[in-house]
Amino acid sequence: MAKIGFIGLGIMGSPMARNLMKAGHAVVAFDVVPALLDSAVGAGAGRGASCADVAAKSEIVITMLPDGPEVEQAVLGAGGVLEGAAAGTIVVDMSSISPLVSQKIAVAAAAKGVGFLDAPVSGGEPKAIDATLAIMVGGEQAVFESVLPVLRLLGASITLTGPVGAGNVTKLANQIMVACNIAAMGEALVLATKAGLDPEVVFNAVKGGLAGSTVLNAKAPLVISRNFKPGFRIRLHQKDLRNALLAAESMKVALPLTSLVQQMLMALMNEGKGDLDHSAIVTFIEEMAGVEVKKPTGE
Ligand code: NAD
Repeated sequence: MAKIGFIGLGIMGSPMARNLMKAGHAVVAFDVVPALLDSAVGAGAGRGASCADVAAKSEIVITMLPDGPEVEQAVLGAGGVLEGAAAGTIVVDMSSISPLVSQKIAVAAAAKGVGFLDAPVSGGEPKAIDATLAIMVGGEQAVFESVLPVLRLLGASITLTGPVGAGNVTKLANQIMVACNIAAMGEALVLATKAGLDPEVVFNAVKGGLAGSTVLNAKAPLVISRNFKPGFRIRLHQKDLRNALLAAESMKVALPLTSLVQQMLMALMNEGKGDLDHSAIVTFIEEMAGVEVKKPTGE
C-alpha cells in the first residue's frame, strides 16, 4: 500500500481521497479550508499541516485544485509540494488546468528528481464518488505505469494520451465539444419553443438521430424542467474555455466557436449565474429571443 498525499478536498477531491482510503491506502490530506480538512481527517486521513508537509509524508501526491494558479501555488509556491518532496516522489495533478502550466510544473519537478503527470478527469461528482471517472493522462510511460494501480481506484477509463500537457489538451478538447454542444442545443430548443412547439416533443423526436448525444440526453431534460442546479458550474467551464483559448493562441490555432461560447459564459457570470449548471447557457439565447424553453402551459 502506498503513502498518498491528497491536496484539494472539494467536490471532486473529497470523494476521490475517500476511495483511496477505502482501498486501504494511507492518505495524508490538506486543504486551505479547515472544515474540509477536518472532514477528511474524520474519514480516516492524516492531517497535513501544509502542501510541503503532505509531500514529505508521501510517495505519491495528488492535487485536485480549481485552476493553474492554485496548482502553481500548491506545488511551486512557498510551503509547496516541491519544498517537502524527496527525489523519487510522483506528483499527479488531476485538476483541469492549462497544459502550459502543467509543462512548467513538470520542469520544476524534474529539477528536484520528482516525477509529474497531468491527469485531469471527466465525469463530475457522481463518477468521483463511484470511482468511474474518465482520466486523461500526460507524462512518461514509466511514471504512468507506476501510478496506474492508484488511478484505477479512481477511474473506469484511464488513457495516457501523450507527454506532459497531453492530459490537459485532451480535457480541453472534451470541454470544447461539451460547451459548443450545449450552446447549439440551446439555440435549437429556443427556436423550436418560439415556433410554438413543445421542446420535450422536439427532444424526443431528434434524440435517436444524428443530433442525438450524451450531452443532449443529459442536459435537455434539465433545461426543459428549468433545473440549473450544478452539476458543472458555468464559472468552471468558462475557466476551461479560457485555458483552451490561451493554449490555442500559443499554437496559433483559431477557435472561433470556443471563443464565442467563452464570451457567453463570461456574460452569464456577470449576470450572477456563475454557480448555475452549464446547461444554463440556454438562458443567454433565451434572453435574445424573449422566450423560455419549457413545456407549453396550454394557454
Ligand atoms: P472545488 O472548488 O470544489 O475544490 C477545490 C478545492 O481546492 C477547494 O476545497 C479549495 O479550498 C482547495 N484549494 C484551493 N487552493 C488551494 C491550495 N493552494 N492548497 C490547498 N487547497 C486549495 O472544485 P472541484 O469541483 O472539486 O474541481 C476541482 C478540479 O476538477 C477543477 O479543475 C475542475 O475544473 C475539475 N473538474 C470538476 C468537475 C466537477 O463536476 N466539479 C468535473 C471534472 C473536472
